[in-house]
Amino acid sequence: MSEQVHSSGSLFLVVAPSGAGKSSLVNALLQQEPAIKLSISYTTRQPRPGEQHGREYFFTTPDDFLARRQANEFLESAEVFGNYYGTSRIQIADQIAAGTDVLLEIDWQGAQQVKKQFPHALGIFILPPSIAALEERLKKRGQDEDHVITRRILAAGGEIAHASEFEYVIINQDFTVALAELSAIVKAARCRFAQQSTRNASLFAQLGIHANLS
Ligand code: GDP
Ligand code: ADP
Ligand code: 5GP
Repeated sequence: MSEQVHSSGSLFLVVAPSGAGKSSLVNALLQQEPAIKLSISYTTRQPRPGEQHGREYFFTTPDDFLARRQANEFLESAEVFGNYYGTSRIQIADQIAAGTDVLLEIDWQGAQQVKKQFPHALGIFILPPSIAALEERLKKRGQDEDHVITRRILAAGGEIAHASEFEYVIINQDFTVALAELSAIVKAARCRFAQQSTRNASLFAQLGIHANLS
């Protein structure tokens, strides 16, 4: 019997090279769909101007991060661009089981780790329209130092090479179109049999619909 038969929430893994527009798209989605729970990661990178502890990330030291990892506090963790990032394990499985949709903004290494534990997680890869656009967006965002931007652009090809491991791909050229596609994926996920039958258990029982557990 799969884990999904008993869970009515969906787990979304949103992955993209830095600058593709992942955070902008996810934040806009959450405005439309405030019930989705965005997991706040731990990271050892420095906060950008305007970033707040507990809102974008839990910012921490390498020593603290490694102690938490040793204590098995992370569902997944990875080193990305010379910093550690990790998703807190607490609540993720409970929230999904309770019917909450959960979204993780993580890198491809983390997505692979989560997929092993939640095989029905839906992977969504955000592509930029070109590498030139990615570079332009990172520069225009103006929140990373030049050497950090260079490092991220150099790493983009490596991240993009993993796009084929994902169920869905969104090309973020026109932001409005990309947001509509992300929203459509979330809505379609909610219509999957396992999600509908758990959320609407009494209707399914009245209608005599039984899950095929084989
Ligand atoms: P941005 O993607 O340009 O906004 O840069 P960030 O510094 O926010 O993220 C850097 C990288 O770390 C990205 O690839 C993120 O997807 C990834 N990342 C963020 N949080 C996590 C996490 O909890 N786990 C993993 N594995 N990766 C993460
Ligand atoms: P990521 O989280 O993937 O690193 P961000 O969401 O921070 O990316 O977006 C990077 C920059 O690109 C931001 O300044 C954002 O406003 C801009 N951006 C996002 N989507 C688009 C788009 N479709 N067209 C032009 N600029 C965009
Ligand atoms: P940034 O430093 O620009 O916020 O994030 C850089 C990269 O780290 C992004 O690709 C982002 O998705 C990834 N990232 C952020 N949080 C996590 C996390 O908790 N786990 C993993 N694996 N990657 C993360």
